[in-house]
Amino acid sequence: MRMPLRQEVHNLLERGRDRQLRLAVTGLSQAGKTAFLTSLVNQLRHAGVEAKLDLLPAAREGRLLGAQRLNQPDLGVPRFPYDPGMAALRDTPPRWPEPTRGISELRLQLRYRPARRGWLTPETAHLTLDLFDYPGEWLLDLPLLQHDFASWSESQTHHQGPQRQALFTRWLEGVKTLDPAATADEAQLAELADAYAEGLKRAKQAGFSDLQPGRFLLPGELEGAPVLQFFPLPALSLSPEALAALPADSVYATLSERFRYYQQQVVRPFYREHFRRFDRQIILVDVLGALNAGPERFEDLSRALRQLMKSFDYGQRSLLSRLFAPRIDRLAIAATKADHVTPEQHPALVRLLEALLAEPLKDLRFANVPVKALSLAAIRATEAREVSHEGKRSPALRGTTLDGEEVLVYPGDVPTSLPSPAFWTSQGFDFPSFRPMATPQEALAHIRMDAALEWLIGDKLA
Ligand code: GDP
Repeated sequence: MRMPLRQEVHNLLERGRDRQLRLAVTGLSQAGKTAFLTSLVNQLRHAGVEAKLDLLPAAREGRLLGAQRLNQPDLGVPRFPYDPGMAALRDTPPRWPEPTRGISELRLQLRYRPARRGWLTPETAHLTLDLFDYPGEWLLDLPLLQHDFASWSESQTHHQGPQRQALFTRWLEGVKTLDPAATADEAQLAELADAYAEGLKRAKQAGFSDLQPGRFLLPGELEGAPVLQFFPLPALSLSPEALAALPADSVYATLSERFRYYQQQVVRPFYREHFRRFDRQIILVDVLGALNAGPERFEDLSRALRQLMKSFDYGQRSLLSRLFAPRIDRLAIAATKADHVTPEQHPALVRLLEALLAEPLKDLRFANVPVKALSLAAIRATEAREVSHEGKRSPALRGTTLDGEEVLVYPGDVPTSLPSPAFWTSQGFDFPSFRPMATPQEALAHIRMDAALEWLIGDKLA
């Protein structure tokens, strides 16, 4: 039976129009990726009913009708754990969702009424949204592709401050006496690689972010595999020719070979099979956490972000463009956990984020990649209050700490530019971690998730 012409034209248009979007979320661990994606899925699922999404026109105008989960197309990628996350948030007392540790994916189908109506426009339309979450640590490995083992070793060992070195003592002790020309002893290399990985993990816990190789921190299925049993060799005194001439079973040649394998079999495939196919990307940054942790870690975050942003350097001659030709057409950069500061500080938070990323932002704008910086709280854990003290009213936050103590705090003023040494000595910054609030309603309380959604998918719902 023939389809009516109108139906036929409509189907053609459906197929022809861009109805699918691959949106990726990243950030260093603890940046708030799991909370962000949990909230994003939650907001979209409750968009037509309860979610407060006034900054997303499709929702404000009542055109966004809701979202359903569909089976994802990539069977090799774990599913993003939305239900366990929501269960944790609904527990008594509420808990934060368990963070994801590798790449995960979730497919949503959004149903909406198009804003512009013509005789060919359907009554309702769908957008398939593929959401990906992956560790920002993996992006720290991009610069590693431009090195050989000797130059990588050099790059990894020259900028270590005393605090950071102290975390690597076991590895430093062992590697000090290791002769690059000696025959490799497997057990010794495994032991030193373990000490190096331990150093990286301790540095991570201490709040450092500029850490390579990224998979040492989040090995996923590579846990214990020989490809992860390498480490940089500090202070190589031999010439490049002498190093290249060392026998294949020497310490240097063995570590070099593993380094090359890691580049080819771990780092490249992630870029080729996943990263290159993302349409849009949001990068989450825990600026406030770093501000709370002090100058050395703030500086470290800044260095890590410079590295991470190289994965978004679309300049014609950039390593990324040369190797992978990515196609992200819109980028958001968000300072997370904005509910840790009082609302009048939010503009300062965005300015600080922009200051922290000044160079990469300039490059992105130059490369004509639309990019927006914002601040948000995926899952708001505090309420803004005002307190009166000696006749003066000032802003404050009320929340419950992770230990269950109810507090009323003023965490501090966010600097609008990179903090000077004077900031750290005179002003500082201090706030506790909060427990999520109990939410009787279905939709999670948030700050500016709707602004993020508008930037990332709003045009597809027009
Ligand atoms: P991930 O490692 O990037 O996935 O980070 P998570 O999403 O697990 O977040 C790390 C921690 O940051 C959580 O356990 C919370 O303590 C905190 N957090 C994340 N998002 C928010 C937020 O919107 N508000 C507040 N107050 N804390 C948050």
